[in-house]
Amino acid sequence: MKTVYVDNAATTAMSDTAIKAMTPYLKEVYGNPSSLHTVGQVAKEALEKFRAEIAQCLNCDAREVYFTSGGSEADNQAIRSAAANGARKGKKHIVTTAFEHHAVLHTLKKLEKEGFEVTYLPVHADGLITASEVEAAIRPDTALVTVMYANNEVGTILPIREIGEVCRKAQVVFHTDAVQAVGHIPVDVQADNIDMLSLSAHKFHGPKGVGALYCRRGIVLNTFVDGGAQERGKRAGTENIAGIAAMAAALKEACANMEKTAKHVTALRDGLIDGLLKIPHSKLNGDRVKRLPSNINMCFEGIEGEGLLLHLDARGICASSGSACTSGSLDPSHVLLALGLPHEVAHGSLRISLSEGNTQKDAEEILKAVPEVVEYLRNMSPVWEELEKGERPHLI
Ligand SMILES: *Cc1c(COP(=O)(O)O)cnc(C)c1O
Repeated sequence: MKTVYVDNAATTAMSDTAIKAMTPYLKEVYGNPSSLHTVGQVAKEALEKFRAEIAQCLNCDAREVYFTSGGSEADNQAIRSAAANGARKGKKHIVTTAFEHHAVLHTLKKLEKEGFEVTYLPVHADGLITASEVEAAIRPDTALVTVMYANNEVGTILPIREIGEVCRKAQVVFHTDAVQAVGHIPVDVQADNIDMLSLSAHKFHGPKGVGALYCRRGIVLNTFVDGGAQERGKRAGTENIAGIAAMAAALKEACANMEKTAKHVTALRDGLIDGLLKIPHSKLNGDRVKRLPSNINMCFEGIEGEGLLLHLDARGICASSGSACTSGSLDPSHVLLALGLPHEVAHGSLRISLSEGNTQKDAEEILKAVPEVVEYLRNMSPVWEELEKGERPHLI
């Protein structure tokens, strides 16, 4: 059975380009970039070339790019650094949204325990917030605004340029978790008024365990991992040069093919949304237009997302429920709850995230399997029976 992999927001397969780019750095060019001998210096030169390539994709200076172990570390470092530097000036307030990735939310929860105050902006039913809502939340003691570029579950694209403008005007540091955006939609740190940005290679066909933090010159960056003087003293540890080589190659390729890829996946996405909405009592989550080309997130009333996933998996379709069940809790996704969905509806969610490798045939298989599985699960569901008998009201 051929697998239909549509969980690209969780992780992507590495591209051949990325694998090819990394191989020499696992074999011939194995030097430590901190070594003074030739083998080390060859690695160092390559490292700086990759840094410049990534900077070019983001439209920044190479010296503003710091390599990390991925998106989570970049988020942690950016937020902790901005918080600590704000606190030194008596600023201990942070603005964010209710539907950030846990790498952001859990860092902020810890900061709250350390005496910071966090405003979690509520998200509208369409999965968006406005720049004026951010503006209204900024106070004289605000140290940081952190708002994701695009949401990993519902795929909505936030008004980052406008939020950046508001932060610039208020002279507040602006960080964005752009892990779902970089390599998929145009991101330009200058035009978008971004001070700090997190990205992760494995979300754009690079390897896992490598990412980067952009930190605009003039914004103080504290170390997060202490040790050697790598990354201009901002992130200790021998550089993951093979991973960085692959990340740079993957990002260059993603940016070069961005329009073509977006056109291809948008067409698949729109066909899937239209087809899946034909299922009675179903709903698309997140704005239909301001969304990532690759993202479909739906709720089907009367079923559990986990059941749907397992049945789809048995048919070779790998998707996600977008729920937190993997973390061992039975709570529905904090993102869907932030959009105002009732618990019982949020439980029946399905996230399909596409990549350029997906085909029309994949879409057809999904459009055949999902309605069948939803019907099968509803036929076994006591909740659905109550809904059908009118003993409880349909919510969607
Ligand atoms: C995947 C993801 C992360 C975490 O990145 P890692 O490289 O896996 O640590 C952070 N934020 C968002 C929005 C993501 O989608």
